[in-house]
Amino acid sequence: MVVNCDEVWRELSNYLDGEVDAGRRAAMDEHFRGCKRCTSVLEGMRNVVQLYGDERMVEAPLGFGYRLQRRLGENAHPSRRTFFGWMVAAAAAVLVAGSFEAARSSGFGRTQLRSEHAQPGRGVPPDMMVWVYPDGKTFHVLGCEYILDRAHLKTVAAREALREGYVPCVRCMKKYLS
Ligand SMILES: [Zn+2]
Ligand SMILES: [Zn+2]
Repeated sequence: MVVNCDEVWRELSNYLDGEVDAGRRAAMDEHFRGCKRCTSVLEGMRNVVQLYGDERMVEAPLGFGYRLQRRLGENAHPSRRTFFGWMVAAAAAVLVAGSFEAARSSGFGRTQLRSEHAQPGRGVPPDMMVWVYPDGKTFHVLGCEYILDRAHLKTVAAREALREGYVPCVRCMKKYLS
């Protein structure tokens, strides 16, 4: 059985509750091994579950208002699943926001990180054309989906980018980094 990210997220609360059958659990374990995104969601969920242990506390860390919680309380008994579903959604939202934030900050204003501590990117083919921001510190494959502002990009050879001290984007250049 092979599961994709969507299925993993749908089943995550059941997985944490130990309510998935052995075949699905194995498939999900397999997916977690290969998918960083789902692994971070899983770990985030686990932390929340361990920290708060009780779904009644969920409103506190995630900022759900008291009133909303009350309304749910009145709506018969909200299933555990509903709460966990929210947590997955909230964890996902945080992750998405976080990755955009990371992409932004890798492109803007962190010039002091263009330094010897950065990833050297030795595996990058020198003739490959890449994208850089003149004032940034990372370079990207052409078409990197993590770049939000494409107006000021320059296309240069990777050799040149490396010589100027740019480092490979850890997302789109992942396969060249070891
Ligand atoms: Zn995944
Ligand atoms: Zn990139």
